[in-house]
Amino acid sequence: MPTPSLYIREKTPKGTWRYRRIKEGRGVKTGVLTAPFFTRPFVDGKQMWKTLSAQAFKEAKEEAWQLTAALDAQSKGLTVLEAEAISNANRVAIGSAVAIYLEQKSGKAIKTVAQYRLTLNEFMEAIGPKVRFLDEITENVLRSYKKFMVGRGYAAKTIDTRLNIVFFLLKKNGIAARIPRDEMPTVEEEVAVPYTEEELKKLFAGMDEEETLRYKFFLGTGCRDKEVTFAAWADIDFDKKTYHIRRKEDMQFTPKSHESRTVPLPDSLITLLKVRRKRAPQDRWIFVNEEGRPDNHFLRKLKRIALRAGLNCGQCKTKLTVGRFDKKKVVEVSCKNQPVCEHIYLHRLRKTCATRWHEAGVPIRTIQVWLGHKNLETTMIYLGVTDSEKLRDNINAAFGSHR
Ligand SMILES: [Zn+2]
Repeated sequence: MPTPSLYIREKTPKGTWRYRRIKEGRGVKTGVLTAPFFTRPFVDGKQMWKTLSAQAFKEAKEEAWQLTAALDAQSKGLTVLEAEAISNANRVAIGSAVAIYLEQKSGKAIKTVAQYRLTLNEFMEAIGPKVRFLDEITENVLRSYKKFMVGRGYAAKTIDTRLNIVFFLLKKNGIAARIPRDEMPTVEEEVAVPYTEEELKKLFAGMDEEETLRYKFFLGTGCRDKEVTFAAWADIDFDKKTYHIRRKEDMQFTPKSHESRTVPLPDSLITLLKVRRKRAPQDRWIFVNEEGRPDNHFLRKLKRIALRAGLNCGQCKTKLTVGRFDKKKVVEVSCKNQPVCEHIYLHRLRKTCATRWHEAGVPIRTIQVWLGHKNLETTMIYLGVTDSEKLRDNINAAFGSHR
């Protein structure tokens, strides 16, 4: 279908009328043009003048498109909808591509699917109803989506994650459009640093019995957040001293990359668990909240403990919503006196555990399995480089006293 041109009528110096085609582009102010607007569609192979009823340029353009589409359909002996359906038969509407994609991902964790759904719906909202088909998604459409998210004040990390979700959808459908790498948001990945012995001493000194068990479990198993939340008594083998991480269908818990695995428990942790078992607050779950449901507030609690222990760095600032109902307001707080230090997080306990295994001489292949890493490379990056002071004896041994 040809793009319709629009015209206005102008008076020449001689006092006669003449049609001028409206050009669009940089610096052309189409908003100031006044009606009537004209267009020149083809009817039965002949081009003819049509006066449009719209009073503003934007609406006139829309009207011209509709008129052209209608005439185009008429010439093929079809209705507009039929003609559109035929010319779009091989195109994929964004809405249906999203629906299919979400359907394909429905086996993933509920939280993941919810994140995809939220992102893709927001993407469609951001690009607006004019972009209807996947093949209309260009670099510039993606740029406008990025701009939309920047406008909403999202963090770089969020923008990056959401753009990547959209990229996955495009890749799946063979659409090549992407935002060039240098225009992607800069995300600073903090490499998880193990806690030092000193930090751990301070952390655990401020914990009660319940808290001690929880965080010793994190530290002793190297488990991820959810793997601790859904740890059941039945998963603990007290003879073999292991924790078997497995799927909990009723809780929609699936271990990452769908693999169950077994991790060893240090004797000290087995002792704590045995004590706890005798007066366990709940039959099934090891760690429960006040309602007897699997607890998932480990991070929030750890941050409070770290603040009490004086471990916060004092530099982090963040915005918090305080108050309830109509008294709600956003205030800026510091990690000097609030439990908001960004350097305190659960993953560091996992990292500490992995580092301890490594330093104790556990082979990397074994650590990979215990951590539940799919690739050995991940484990190797994860373990990083051992602090040279800890290797002092090895260094000296390598050179001996006379070498
Ligand atoms: Zn801090």
